[in-house]
Amino acid sequence: MTHTRTGIIEIAVPLPLDRTFHYSVPGHLRAAVRPGVRVFVPFGRRKVTGYVLGPAPSTGGDLKDIIEVLDDAPLFTPGELAFFRWIASYYLHPLGEVIKTALPAGINLESRRSETDRAGGQEAETIKGGRNVLRERFYRATEGATEAASVRGKGARILLYLLEHGEASRSRLNSLFSNPAAPLKRLVERRLVTVDEREVYRDPFAEEVFEPDPPRALNECQSAAYDRIAAAISRGEFAPFLLHGVTGSGKTEVYLHAITHAVRMGKTALVLTPEIALTPQLVKRFRSRFSHGIAVLHSGLSPGERFDEWRRIRRGEVSIAIGARSAIFAPLENLGIIVVDEEHEASYKQCDGVTYNARDLALVRGKMEKAAVVLGSATPLITTFYAARHGKLHYLGLPERVRGLPLPETRILDARRLKNMTFSAELADALAENLKNGGQSLLLLNRRGFATFLVCRDCGHVFRCPNCSVTLTYHRARQRHFCHYCDFSLPAPSVCPGCNGSDIGLFGKGTERLEDEVRELLPGARVARMDSDTTAGRGGHARILKRLEEGHIDVLIGTQMIAKGHDYPGVTLVGVVSADATLNLPDFRSAERTFQLVSQVMGRAGRGAAPGKVLIQGMAPDHYALARAAAHDYEGFFDDEISFREEAGYPPFSRLALVNLSCTAEQPVEQAALEAAAMLREMRRVMNARVEILGPAPAPLAKVRGRFRWQILLKSGNRTDMKKLLSAFRTHWNPLRIIRTNVDIDPVDTL
Ligand code: ADP
Ligand code: ZN
Repeated sequence: MTHTRTGIIEIAVPLPLDRTFHYSVPGHLRAAVRPGVRVFVPFGRRKVTGYVLGPAPSTGGDLKDIIEVLDDAPLFTPGELAFFRWIASYYLHPLGEVIKTALPAGINLESRRSETDRAGGQEAETIKGGRNVLRERFYRATEGATEAASVRGKGARILLYLLEHGEASRSRLNSLFSNPAAPLKRLVERRLVTVDEREVYRDPFAEEVFEPDPPRALNECQSAAYDRIAAAISRGEFAPFLLHGVTGSGKTEVYLHAITHAVRMGKTALVLTPEIALTPQLVKRFRSRFSHGIAVLHSGLSPGERFDEWRRIRRGEVSIAIGARSAIFAPLENLGIIVVDEEHEASYKQCDGVTYNARDLALVRGKMEKAAVVLGSATPLITTFYAARHGKLHYLGLPERVRGLPLPETRILDARRLKNMTFSAELADALAENLKNGGQSLLLLNRRGFATFLVCRDCGHVFRCPNCSVTLTYHRARQRHFCHYCDFSLPAPSVCPGCNGSDIGLFGKGTERLEDEVRELLPGARVARMDSDTTAGRGGHARILKRLEEGHIDVLIGTQMIAKGHDYPGVTLVGVVSADATLNLPDFRSAERTFQLVSQVMGRAGRGAAPGKVLIQGMAPDHYALARAAAHDYEGFFDDEISFREEAGYPPFSRLALVNLSCTAEQPVEQAALEAAAMLREMRRVMNARVEILGPAPAPLAKVRGRFRWQILLKSGNRTDMKKLLSAFRTHWNPLRIIRTNVDIDPVDTL
């Protein structure tokens, strides 16, 4: 069979294979095949879904025919394909797996449905998203409505609302005006209002009513930052910015203004935030400012809902998308600006499956699409600030809090003198005092559960997870001992497996115990706790934060969750019960993490009229991460940390890659790690690659979920050499099947 040039296509399949494949297209399918659609193809003895990349030149070989075309319209544009290719190449992943990760999972539900429809002999038509798509009536004021002087009562109020808001759905009007049916009918009859019926998507925030929020007049620093971002958007050039503003300095207001500018220019905007559930206020502010045209992608969405949001974006029905890391793939076209809020957050890194870092990809995508990229933070990554100092990012500073609010007064308390006590006298007094004055307090302890360390008092046996190299944590409310890394748990109380003794000592305090102690310390105080035990389920965080906002909580205890970007004016005291949990991690970024966490939680204090106070307890009170945080001295911290990085050759003075190996048995993984390291060293010699190879060594977390873990750390100042070496390694590395290998480019931790 001979094919014309257009009869042969290149496709990528979502399988762990580092190459693409060519297929021929039978005549009757040719009209339907386009780059960006999915096709069903024979693959070995199986049939798989593939993504059409484009036409391919004839190779003369015998090609198989595709079986079916699965989409009417392309799922990705050529520009997006270029982005996917970049990701595949940089993070060393098969292109087909990258594309699969980038597309919403719900899309597969759709194609399965369309296949059954076809099997039933029905016409292949566009399938609607099922229960998430509803038909709804929309009302809009007509041109003549402005002069309608004779409308009165509820009709007049509805008309005014429509004139102000452009249009409104029936359900919205129902929620705003009781029984609007009759007045609406009259308005429609008088041709003051038109109505049409449209397909709508289920709105995850539908129940909430957002008060319109007018833009604030920017202060001088905000204006200066805004002007430079807006100018870049107007020029349609790639321009990367660091917006470095202390907590409460008005960064979000700058984003909102810049996005307004982009939207006015007919461009779109992408906003990345670490975790939507933790930042209901951010979403609320966007929703209030922009009454329509926003898609919110958050982890609480079902696959169907996520697909709905994706489709609205793909069809160009929205111009702003907000979401956590995977929103970096939101199919916005004509991007004017990408905002990465809290750019320092480690959660921008996707660690499973196709690994990527959305913060880094924002810069890549912005460059490809000639957009402004704004990385915002009060505590930028060391690498980000370094890049700004060296002119790779434009620096925009907001050194002061808006409305001249002072930064909170902060003290570090030496926890070594505390022995077994949880609260120093200063912290206990401050909590009591703040309660008396009607202020709210936040208490951070970055360990959940009741006791984090269980020891048999008779024989000294320590309760460990059989699957992970960590100790078990006692959760009193659930009456079990849990592993925080896998789903192992034991009923509590348990007898000691070593000696059958029943005198189990509970050491190491978690948030659950802290809650008890606070209740004891402050009888009558309204105490609440926010950690992943109390926030399970949709809207869990928002519920607690709302109670805080409405003043129903006096003391909120929590893990790092409470440190995130909330703005609650009633909070006048912040206590860090123990700053050591993160500081002692055996990781090159533990000082940075600690500085960030402490600074962020400090930033929650004193956002209202009353000044705030912060007390930090730590076993290493002189450590620069704590001292600099307490002094609100980011640059001082940067100077301390950068010299450590330089000495140790860590980023920004090198790029890192981690080769992780794991296996359910200990001996084979050690053996494999030795072989992998030897192979890497041999390849380095042959290729003359300038890469430092450290290890192999057992990972600091030596066992997780029943798998023993070893690692090899690669450091290099030369991206090309690193990549050449790792690509060659991936091609030739062929360990026993029981060994799992993954290559983590730019790891955010080395645990
Ligand atoms: P950040 O994102 O830096 O923490 P926000 O943008 O949330 O700061 O601003 C903190 C508070 O100050 C918010 O309540 C915001 O509405 C308000 N705000 C921001 N900019 C201004 C301004 N120029 N004038 C008045 N209030 C402002
Ligand atoms: Zn475990």
